[in-house]
Amino acid sequence: MTPETSAPSSPPTPGEVDCLVVGAGPVGLYQVFQLGLQELSCAVVDALPFLGGQCAELYPDKPIHDLPGLLACSGAELVGRLVRQLEPFKPRCVLGQEIVALAAEPDGRWRLGDAAGRVWLARSVVLAAGVGAFAPRRLKLAGIEALEGRQVWHREPRAGDSIGAVPWVHGGDDRALDAVTALVDLGAPVVHLLYRREVYPASAARVARLEGLIAEGRVVRHVGQPESLLLDDAGRLVGIAWMAADGSAPAAPASSLHVSLGLNPRLGPLADWDLGLARKQVPVDPATFETRLPGIHAVGDVCSYPGKLKLIVSGFHEATLAAHAIAHRLRPDAPRILEYTTSSARLQRILGVDATHAARDTP
Ligand SMILES: Cc1cc2nc3c(=O)[nH]c(=O)nc-3n(C[C@H](O)[C@H](O)[C@H](O)COP(=O)(O)OP(=O)(O)OC[C@H]3O[C@@H](n4cnc5c(N)ncnc54)[C@H](O)[C@@H]3O)c2cc1C
Repeated sequence: MTPETSAPSSPPTPGEVDCLVVGAGPVGLYQVFQLGLQELSCAVVDALPFLGGQCAELYPDKPIHDLPGLLACSGAELVGRLVRQLEPFKPRCVLGQEIVALAAEPDGRWRLGDAAGRVWLARSVVLAAGVGAFAPRRLKLAGIEALEGRQVWHREPRAGDSIGAVPWVHGGDDRALDAVTALVDLGAPVVHLLYRREVYPASAARVARLEGLIAEGRVVRHVGQPESLLLDDAGRLVGIAWMAADGSAPAAPASSLHVSLGLNPRLGPLADWDLGLARKQVPVDPATFETRLPGIHAVGDVCSYPGKLKLIVSGFHEATLAAHAIAHRLRPDAPRILEYTTSSARLQRILGVDATHAARDTP
């Protein structure tokens, strides 16, 4: 699966699919697989710049112990396995874009739009939006918004960012420490790192690398909480003032600032889509996982029904039933047959499995 991250052509040509999956967490990825088994065309969109939702964002290295038949499988490994499993279906995948708009079309389809202006026309929709779209937690300081994208960024440093001679990073997690290394790699002579504590909530390897850069004089560490941005008469960032741990209030020159304070999930536009949200979850019919809007389903952490458990395995069940319900709705005259991947020639053909080998490999 090759994710698309660039902006669409202008004006954008709508992507037409049988089903658009909103959210590429573990449940959204498995949803794509199940829709593929039903031979429905499908695309998946996620606000994060990578696949895997909470598994990839919150616990990529932690082992999960309650997946059927897998004694231990890290969040990252599960995502890798799910992506490999759906590869036969080659779905379109757009990352780094939040779906922000939903509207009904006269022909019964749904029109969805992402923040970059990409448009989708879908005969059905599956919301696999988990606890919401992850967005960077923002640093709240007077005047910061006017500098966003010019001298301040709430994302990782990229070639082309005008970092200037005195770049700063604010944060202490893995991403913040990666930002420091990225700025060094981009040629910054010295990078300033500001974090509220002396201990960093980052991997041991990253902390060791940081200590090495500090020892080499490539990074200067400051402990404290940013208090204000210092601007010149033209409104350009020229310094940062912070409250130090010892109660003093120092300030120092700054030419740019990359902020990394973690990500916050927010349901965002979903909350305005007349889905009857209750406690930030979408009520569904547990037989079909359809919401109260026809053709719009919800699975995984975002859905609610009596007895709902926010577990990956529950999401896999929900995605399976949703795919069957969608196939039935889009092809009402087709016979409803339950097929097994172990024995169905059709399923093995679309999965690219050689039936002879599959039978021989079965113990
Ligand atoms: C620390 C931790 C440990 C856990 N351990 C376990 C465990 O051991 N076993 C277990 O079963 N479960 C565990 N869970 C729970 C499990 O991670 C969730 O149940 C699972 O991730 C839900 O998957 P999902 O696909 O529904 O949602 P998510 O993983 O939340 O993915 C949803 C995705 O949708 C995207 N999205 C949302 N809105 C939009 C939008 N409008 N446009 C585009 N994209 C959007 C988000 O960016 C996100 O990537 C754990 C959770 C945490 C936090």
